[in-house]
Amino acid sequence: MASSTANPANHLPYFFGNITREDAEEYLMQGGASDGLYLLRQSRNYLGGFALSLAHGRKVHHYTIERELSGSYAIAGGKSHASPAELIKYHSEEADGLICLLRKPFNRPPGVEPKTGPFEDLKENLIREYVKQTWNLQGHALEQAIISQKPQLEKLIATTAHEKMPWFHGRISREESEHRILIGSRNNGKFLIRERDSNGSYALCLLNDGKVLHYRIDRDKTGKLSIPDGKRFDTLWQLVEHYSYKPDGLLRVLTTPCPQLGSENDNIGFNTYPSASGTFPKLQSTIGHPSEEAPFNPYVLQRKRGPTEAERGDQREALPMDTEVYESPYADPDEIKPKNVTLDRKLLTLEEGELGSGNFGTVKKGFYRMKKGAKPVAVKILKNESNDPAIKDELLREANVMQQLDNPYIVRMIGICEAEAWMLVMEMAELGPLNRFLQKNRHVTEKNITELVHQVSMGMKYLEENNFVHRDLAARNVLLVTQHYAKISDFGLSKALSADENYYKAQSHGKWPVKWYAPECMNFYKFSSKSDVWSFGVLMWEAFSYGQKPYKGMKGGEVAQMIERGERMERPEVCPTEVYSLMKLCWTYNVDDRPGFAAVELRLRNYYYDISH
Ligand code: ADP
Ligand code: MG
Repeated sequence: MASSTANPANHLPYFFGNITREDAEEYLMQGGASDGLYLLRQSRNYLGGFALSLAHGRKVHHYTIERELSGSYAIAGGKSHASPAELIKYHSEEADGLICLLRKPFNRPPGVEPKTGPFEDLKENLIREYVKQTWNLQGHALEQAIISQKPQLEKLIATTAHEKMPWFHGRISREESEHRILIGSRNNGKFLIRERDSNGSYALCLLNDGKVLHYRIDRDKTGKLSIPDGKRFDTLWQLVEHYSYKPDGLLRVLTTPCPQLGSENDNIGFNTYPSASGTFPKLQSTIGHPSEEAPFNPYVLQRKRGPTEAERGDQREALPMDTEVYESPYADPDEIKPKNVTLDRKLLTLEEGELGSGNFGTVKKGFYRMKKGAKPVAVKILKNESNDPAIKDELLREANVMQQLDNPYIVRMIGICEAEAWMLVMEMAELGPLNRFLQKNRHVTEKNITELVHQVSMGMKYLEENNFVHRDLAARNVLLVTQHYAKISDFGLSKALSADENYYKAQSHGKWPVKWYAPECMNFYKFSSKSDVWSFGVLMWEAFSYGQKPYKGMKGGEVAQMIERGERMERPEVCPTEVYSLMKLCWTYNVDDRPGFAAVELRLRNYYYDISH
């Protein structure tokens, strides 16, 4: 269970290991939070990475330090350093993007060791297996689900994951627990947890100088677990993590989990999990009594293979994977994808009313009959009266691009249909454009917005990897399936890049969304994934401004001049500083210095995980 590789920061007195962002803030506040006071901690989400927490103006700022492929360390977008210690040394002389210089380290109090995260690997496996089995996903779809929903999934598995932990011994007597602890090694801090009754109360049994101490763990009315007068936790797992690095009232910290008899390796073995069906046990999504028989029952908006009617009534928000549009309908081997993408008009029904419109025509809601039932669709319908063949060609080009894309965070095309008009049939994103949704829903939290823009960055990373440029990335073209599920749409201006160029060169200036365009688009008509990154910066600005128009009241030409002068839009009122600095990074003038979506997605991911803990 112990970490096998030496941590390059373990020797630093100001390194706290795997503590939370919240804990870091608490420490720095305790330490007076003077400007420039800092500590270093392990990144909880990014393998081998670190986070730097720095006090300034009575606030704590956090920076992710990534371990680069070369093995060096850098604050995203910044200079590389051979070790975390060198990076710290550098930033005590140069702010270079930080809010202030690193002035004074906050060292670990006596007796506090860097916290290790021995359960991290285990957690990864649990999550993967859980997602695989609950939503029947694999490959790319599985990975994307884990990346975008990790905080939610962690919460889900946390409620029962202790059953997989070597330190959890189930319902055994006090005598038996003492017996088990006293067998074999008798190092101080050896521990186990046993179940006391079926009302969700437990006991922590801890070895101290040859004697076993028993601490009660009670569950209060709200479901929180605590040792009498101790800190309260949602899960046993977090409780164990906490007391593994802070005695906090116990006689000593927890060190080694007491192994369970008969299990040579105390790893989770899904293949050997003793459940009748041989599948992963369904988990409870809310914190209840562990002995309750109620199965896990996600509440779903558009159900795919979710729970039965009787299982609903749970408060959990729908995850992207719960919806019908997470995977392509053609991912189902029973559905046959039409070869030439043309759909049968008889299988399509259109509803009255419009979802949207443009000079091409209208977008209507409809249903497309598939083998597994009627699928809600959005249908882009060309105006018939316009005899302009260019409009039809545009639609066919859009369809041609969409046909090549398949990602959970991109609106998929179901097919095209030539009947009373040319129609492009797409997956439905019921809640409509992100900017309008946020204008109407001011209660949406920062975390929620971060979750959504992170999903957009995942979709864009996919486009970048597949050499497509979007060219019209804006909040109006991000559609919501649910409040927690965004998809990129509107591929009307998109281009597939040729193998030999990483940009598309437009022949002439067109009807362009210039406020979203990077300088090289305006000056040289050059469009690349990097220019989409610029647009993504504007999109983030729109999202954190709750759908306000960027560069309000300015003309396109004025915006271009402002950019050339080196000025950028200001931070929206509720926008976190971390996100604003990323926005500004997206608005790097020089294409070569601007990050790509791989880097942008990672930054957002880290930040999102960080604020979700
Ligand atoms: P335009 O090129 O005119 O911007 P869009 O593809 O952005 O065309 O579609 C116009 C509007 O139609 C969108 O703003 C949205 O309100 C609606 N719409 C388009 N596609 C969908 C979809 N897949 N699901 C739901 N609404 C959609
Ligand atoms: Mg649009």
